[in-house]
Amino acid sequence: MCKDASCSHASLPQIKMIAGHPEKQTDAGRAPSETDGVMLCPQCDLMVTLPDVAEGDKAVCPRCYTTLSTRWVEPCLQPVCYAVSALVMMVFANLFPFINMRVSGIYNQIRLIEIPQAMMNDDYSSLAYLFLIFVQLIPAFCMVAIILLCLNVPLPYRLKVIMGRVIYLAKAWCMVEIFLVGVLVSFVKLMAYGNIGIGLSFVPYCLFCLLQVRAFQCTDRYLFWQNIRPAPALTKTPKPGVSGKDQGLRLCPCCTAILPADLKECPRCHTVGYVRKPNSLQWTIALLVTSIMLYIPANILPIMVTEVLGNPMASNIMSGVILLWEDGSYPVSLVIFIASIMVPTLKILAILWLCYDASGKGAIKGRQDRERMHVIYEIVEFVGRWSMIDVFVIGVLSALVRMGRLMSIYPDIGALLFAVVVILTMIAAMMFDPRLLWDRKQTITNKEPDSAE
Ligand SMILES: [Zn+2]
Ligand SMILES: [Zn+2]
Repeated sequence: MCKDASCSHASLPQIKMIAGHPEKQTDAGRAPSETDGVMLCPQCDLMVTLPDVAEGDKAVCPRCYTTLSTRWVEPCLQPVCYAVSALVMMVFANLFPFINMRVSGIYNQIRLIEIPQAMMNDDYSSLAYLFLIFVQLIPAFCMVAIILLCLNVPLPYRLKVIMGRVIYLAKAWCMVEIFLVGVLVSFVKLMAYGNIGIGLSFVPYCLFCLLQVRAFQCTDRYLFWQNIRPAPALTKTPKPGVSGKDQGLRLCPCCTAILPADLKECPRCHTVGYVRKPNSLQWTIALLVTSIMLYIPANILPIMVTEVLGNPMASNIMSGVILLWEDGSYPVSLVIFIASIMVPTLKILAILWLCYDASGKGAIKGRQDRERMHVIYEIVEFVGRWSMIDVFVIGVLSALVRMGRLMSIYPDIGALLFAVVVILTMIAAMMFDPRLLWDRKQTITNKEPDSAE
């Protein structure tokens, strides 16, 4: 079904079709296909021919199974509808009380916007900014940009390019759904102390979360950039089944245009790019070493201080997990353990393994080995940001639990360090060039000297 297309020019790669809604097939819709119907896979650098994908179906790379193109029903209108609804829900989510808590007759309720305010009052402005940026500003900006660009509103070209680039860069940093899980975890943590209730804003926030995820999902990056400006014309014919590097072509990481390998700046989106990210492994390892150094104090130092009846009690990540386990909240204890301890540790180890493999030092065990490493890379990319759950939990707890002498919760230095560790490992994963994993296979096949890095 999916041959290694890089081995033979005669057998062009067969795009694997994933059936969605075949009954909805129509001829209406999309602009002419990707640059002459070909596309460079962003993950493995294979040049593939794109078939005419039916509405609701998607085309995946025959080598690494990355989704290359999805043909949505109403590809312009759908993201706009989701983005508009998400923005409306976001406004509602900020207007009314979000959650409330009652402990021994004392009642406290907070609005979404009061969560960063509480952190600022405790001299943890940096945590407050992280919350504002990841949960409010980036998602709101991206929704507005999706609406303007998908509707093709007449705006200056430079402004459109900036918006398109910000959407591409900021997507990984939208943490709305992670914050929602953080809120749910906080609920369970607080149940032992008092009655927790949801406010009028809670349901709109959940809807905002779902709608913005969906808006991102159905935004077709290719069509989106075609709306801004058609892809620059190619001087040579792309050869499907061969990697871009081997035919002197590269992919623009931002707007998916196929460009000559020696062209540093994309003429369409002005993103500077390379055939392979320069010093990718060195950057990744440097960021990882920094995050390991911060990860140790982040686990030892307290992440929050709980003050009950005037007695302050500092707790770090592990003691929080143990406390929850002893209280009998096994699922939450497990969630925190997995998100805050297991995932960052495994992620650091996995990225180190990827770097070792991509550097050409690992043993080559054939095609499956490349695919396995690629799956590891995809998992690392996906799970990285979920480690922010614990940071958001502390944010919610310290904003909601302000009952004076009775019970108060404050963030502590460990939370900030932990947030920095998560951000650094996310950047480390972004700096890693997954195409290096596939390069080594090719150099073996073509019996050329190793040129991975
Ligand atoms: Zn691929
Ligand atoms: Zn570009």
